[in-house]
Amino acid sequence: MAEPAGPGGRAGAGERVALVTGASSGLGRATAVALARAGYRLVLHGRDRERLTTPPALAEATAVTGDLAVPADVERLAATALSAHGRVDLLVSNAGVGWSGPLEAMDGDRAAAMLAVNLAAPIALTRALLPHMLDRGTGRLAYVTSIAGRLGVAGEAVYAATKGGLDAFAESLRLELRGTGVAVTVLVPGVVDTPFFERRGAPYDRSRPRPLPAGRVAAALVRGVAGGADEVHAPRWLRLPVAVRGAAPGPYRRLAGRFGDRVR
Ligand code: NAP
Repeated sequence: MAEPAGPGGRAGAGERVALVTGASSGLGRATAVALARAGYRLVLHGRDRERLTTPPALAEATAVTGDLAVPADVERLAATALSAHGRVDLLVSNAGVGWSGPLEAMDGDRAAAMLAVNLAAPIALTRALLPHMLDRGTGRLAYVTSIAGRLGVAGEAVYAATKGGLDAFAESLRLELRGTGVAVTVLVPGVVDTPFFERRGAPYDRSRPRPLPAGRVAAALVRGVAGGADEVHAPRWLRLPVAVRGAAPGPYRRLAGRFGDRVR
């Protein structure tokens, strides 16, 4: 992992500091821009330094590069953020990778890397930052999960497992942190218009639901953080299939089997 770039001076007492992973692309970048506009000092993480701070709104951010599949890089990210600004008020754990296809066709290394980036890294980052938030009696942990983790998706079993695991982690942590001043927000996106699908090697080819612009989803997340929301669904109607599955799992599965994706 390289040294941080950007001005990187310690944040003043009245300023808020946000650490955003996956800030070099898509939803993470849009969230970083929205947080910059909301007045946050930023620590941005990704694998490409130039892409991290390319948007003019992010030119002042502290950029940290590294691979979230490597535990030492995750630890170093937390340490760098804390030493750059003295604290992190908001963690947006957003970085993630996908893969689509039948499980038996999935390479074992790819599955392990996905578990590392999507699930182990957010847990490790939280473990590194949480003690400092608890000491100060304030902070917010925001996790980008997926509707795949709430409902399951054919052809995305491992991806859905990482997101479902992150969801359960966040829910449990929220209970555990009650009364400490540290709070948890979960963003549950549906389909967002980002390079995610192209990068996973399988383009999004359904006509519905239509992908939401990343800026719109980022704005919903930042509003949720500002308003102290436990969870944010984007789009909001995603609450409905989640509720139907919870209340009537049998009929839900019959419908999902009829209309859901098939991979073989
Ligand atoms: P994206 O444009 O592909 O962005 C993914 C980000 O994660 C990039 O900044 C990427 O950094 C970073 N990343 C991936 N692997 C990494 C690694 N090993 N180490 C460090 N950083 C790594 O996708 P996106 O749609 O914005 O995804 C953001 C989050 O939203 C993900 O957690 C995804 O699962 C979730 N999500 C997306 C959708 C959707 O429809 N797009 C739906 C539900 C949930 P590099 O640029 O360096 O590769």
